[in-house]
Amino acid sequence: MEIYHVKLGPCTKCGDYKKPCRCFLENENARLISQVAELKSAIIEFLDIAYNSEGISGWHMNGDILMWNQVEQIEEFERVTKE
Ligand SMILES: [Zn+2]
Repeated sequence: MEIYHVKLGPCTKCGDYKKPCRCFLENENARLISQVAELKSAIIEFLDIAYNSEGISGWHMNGDILMWNQVEQIEEFERVTKE
C-alpha cells in the first residue's frame, strides 16, 4: 500500500491519498445531482404531454390507442419527480 501511495502520490487538487479522493467525489456528486435534475425535468415535460393527450397511437398496431392510464410507468414517473 505504501508503494501505491509513493507511486501515485496525493491528489494534486485536494491532497487526498484516498482514491477516489474528496474533490473527485464532490465533483461526481455535483454532476449526478445536476443529471438527476435534468432527468426530472425531462420526465415532467413528458408527463405534461401525457396529461394533455389520450395515449399512444400506434402502440397496439391495430388502430387502438394505448391509454395513458394503462401505462404503469406513468405512476413511477410521477413518483420520481416528487422525490
Ligand atoms: Zn482530489
